[in-house]
Amino acid sequence: MILVTGGAGFIGANFILDWLTQSDEVVINLDKLTYAGNLNNLSSLNNDDRHLFVHADINERDILEQVLQKHKPRAVLHFAAESHVDRSIHGPAAFIETNVNGTFSLLESVRAYWQALPEQEKNAFRFLHVSTDEVYGSLEANDPPFTETTAYAPNSPYSASKAASDHLVRAYHHTYGLPTLTTNCSNNYGPLHFPEKLIPLVITNARAGKVLPIYGDGSQVRDWLYVSDHCAAIRRVLEAGQPGATYNIGGWNEKTNLNVVHSICDLLDELQPKVAGNYRDQIRHVKDRPGHDKRYAIDARKIERELGWKPAESFETGLRKTVSWYLDNDAWTAQVLSGEYQNWVALQYHVQ
Ligand code: NAD
Repeated sequence: MILVTGGAGFIGANFILDWLTQSDEVVINLDKLTYAGNLNNLSSLNNDDRHLFVHADINERDILEQVLQKHKPRAVLHFAAESHVDRSIHGPAAFIETNVNGTFSLLESVRAYWQALPEQEKNAFRFLHVSTDEVYGSLEANDPPFTETTAYAPNSPYSASKAASDHLVRAYHHTYGLPTLTTNCSNNYGPLHFPEKLIPLVITNARAGKVLPIYGDGSQVRDWLYVSDHCAAIRRVLEAGQPGATYNIGGWNEKTNLNVVHSICDLLDELQPKVAGNYRDQIRHVKDRPGHDKRYAIDARKIERELGWKPAESFETGLRKTVSWYLDNDAWTAQVLSGEYQNWVALQYHVQ
């Protein structure tokens, strides 16, 4: 049995769905169901007793302790987080509460549970912390990509809170010997992605005939990884990663934001052409995000060399799958776009 936190969100849900196609090992999914958590992501598991859902906050130590004692997982995979950089600029407190305090409370509960395990189970236990490349800060155009030894230099409240959580995880390994694993991954994209993030936002806005907003000139560079490749990397790290180690995960797909938006528009022109004109006509440049990092790039050679992981999808194949998924899943998008998302759209509008 494994315990996943944040399994109703984008990557966590993809991870659980992937996991249960490859294994019958039961997953306990502990999630607070914030605006980003959506049990519809897991509706295909409604009658599947390999998925147990616990509605809780990772700050609720009593619930965490009960869940650990009752189910005795062999591993905890920690996805739960506040994850959107723009939201962290408007309201950083929630990021400290979940990403820093929440990770601390989870580590404390897990440490107590782990320390009481019999020796053999104690050695086999793993705490896998899912983190981001944004902790390394921003690169100039000619800098080499981030490696596992690049110094941390987070620039947004989001990345600072993730950096703090990475440091806590590191400290729990060095201080208490907790067998931790940390992964730092680049930008993910794929099915079930909440449409506040660039790729799903552009797909849904384009199809609704709305403006496609590009921050500044769109020259910011990000590395992109298809979400199922990230899930496969996490499974591999859980299986064979060295306790205490960190692994960078990336797709070797550096793209400017403008380039990503153009690729989406061109795919939509092919798969769902407009009656008149093309989707690129909807692009508008808007005021840049404060402190916007210029470039992220990941050197993923360590996980490739030591654990034999490589991404299966290129950006072109992954993006085609993603756009097709959104074209086939209007009901999912409609449900997500109602509710809390509208408050966020209103806030953004107000702030600009
Ligand atoms: P997401 O925002 O889609 O999902 C986060 C999930 O965590 C939601 O289900 C939410 O309900 C849950 N959650 C939030 N606060 C909680 C709390 N206090 N207690 C319990 N559950 C809580 O995020 P995502 O994009 O799926 O990211 C998952 C993890 O991967 C995060 O840790 C993120 O930092 C990391 N990551 C994301 C990316 C990316 O491109 N999305 C890249 C690298 C790393």
